[in-house]
Amino acid sequence: MNIASAADRRFCPACNAWIPRGPGADRCPRCRSLTLGGFDSAAHTPTIRFSEGLPEVETVIMDDQLTHLIGSRLDVYVLESRLGHGAMGQVFLASHEHLGRKCAVKVLMPKATRDPKFLQRFLNEGRAAASLVHPNIVTTHAIGGESGVYFLEMEFVGGRSLQRLLQEEGRLDPLRATAICARVADGLAAAHREGVVHRDIKLENILLTLQGAPKLGDFGLAKPVVGTADELAGTPNYMAPELFQGEPPSFASDVYALGVCYFLLLTGRFPYGGASLNELMDAAIHAPLPNIRKEFPEIPLEMAECLAMLLAKAPANRPQNGIAAAQLLDAVCGQMRDLHSLMHEAFDGVPGLTWKRGPEDGYRIDVEIPDGRRQTLTLEPSDHSLSERLILISSICCDAQPAYYEQALRLNSDIPHGGLAIRDVDGRPKFVMVDTYPRATVDSEEIRRSILEVAARADAVEKLLTGKDIH
Ligand code: ADP
Repeated sequence: MNIASAADRRFCPACNAWIPRGPGADRCPRCRSLTLGGFDSAAHTPTIRFSEGLPEVETVIMDDQLTHLIGSRLDVYVLESRLGHGAMGQVFLASHEHLGRKCAVKVLMPKATRDPKFLQRFLNEGRAAASLVHPNIVTTHAIGGESGVYFLEMEFVGGRSLQRLLQEEGRLDPLRATAICARVADGLAAAHREGVVHRDIKLENILLTLQGAPKLGDFGLAKPVVGTADELAGTPNYMAPELFQGEPPSFASDVYALGVCYFLLLTGRFPYGGASLNELMDAAIHAPLPNIRKEFPEIPLEMAECLAMLLAKAPANRPQNGIAAAQLLDAVCGQMRDLHSLMHEAFDGVPGLTWKRGPEDGYRIDVEIPDGRRQTLTLEPSDHSLSERLILISSICCDAQPAYYEQALRLNSDIPHGGLAIRDVDGRPKFVMVDTYPRATVDSEEIRRSILEVAARADAVEKLLTGKDIH
């Protein structure tokens, strides 16, 4: 066995592998920015029942890149270049001699071939994945062996993994992150429909096509649903709290791992950290989920709520499988996209009006009033539950001084829709013109008319009561 001494290596919970110590003390040289800081191997090996052979095989891989296979033929494939390596073997770009098409061929490490557990896991991947045909799953075409070399032929996915995407571009636009996770959830739903639990959902195992569609791969740990907790396996940072407490992997623990992917894409970091594997487990089990809107207020409430459901500590409080997770993520995407496209529909090409995202989930709109005055409005979704949600349109008129009350009340009785209210703005009472519409039925025409009316009325009140044009 060719492994480095414990002092020279650390366990990376993001890669789920022992990695030689690199120059960056707290960074894994393999996945760099995504690692929380390595765990000292000697201190933590006994605390977690990972597959005992896994670290050793990982270390073997570091030594044997199987590069001698490049340019050679394996069964009906000519191996052209190396695409990457994982826990079980090397993945090559290959061409299929008979069909003349490109494909990806995963070759199991020869030393691992002699380990029945790993051979079994490799064959499992082939069987689990071959039963799944879905646009968001890497399709497995064939599985075979020649002269003791075992391989898996997959469709070739030309883009980066989500982990590479995150490393290279940083956290994603929230809508893009949600749309990607919704499609990954579709792939997961297809696996769950077949009764297959993936057990190792992570950014590294999700590949993007050149068109940007995500595909779920690496079914090496996948198994049909089992009733008992067998050997603990997976990648610690993505593991649901109940797995650390001895529960068996389930559809809901796959959903949790998808939630960790979503958290990473939205924020660029893992939800929980710790200086040791024990601390990480403790945080996953007990620590409250960080409120991502504190750090990133531009992430809409709907997304934070959805994230909290995917990452619920109790499996019963999560969407129960990929199907339910996909529905939830699609609903969030729909909500967000609708409001944004509604804004475009309502205002594109309307002269004298500009709008932009913010504050928070809403929009800020500046309207030119015909006599050279201006008025600023906000349009925001209300915080009610999804079905009762409203669109709130508001515009500050002026300070609400008691001397103006009577006049303001009279004005209010003339307004056909919405009205004048007193609201606390930055600690001062203000007259605010408000209007609301049900989120579910409002159309772009109603929004455009309402914005122009509220702007005109708010400005008229400001002019009448103060003679100024501040808001
Ligand atoms: P393992 O099962 O051994 O962990 P993976 O399936 O994670 O291996 O693959 C390792 C790497 O190989 C991936 O991160 C990716 O870069 C590359 N790879 C795997 N499958 C494909 C594919 N179908 N198309 C393109 N690249 C792939």
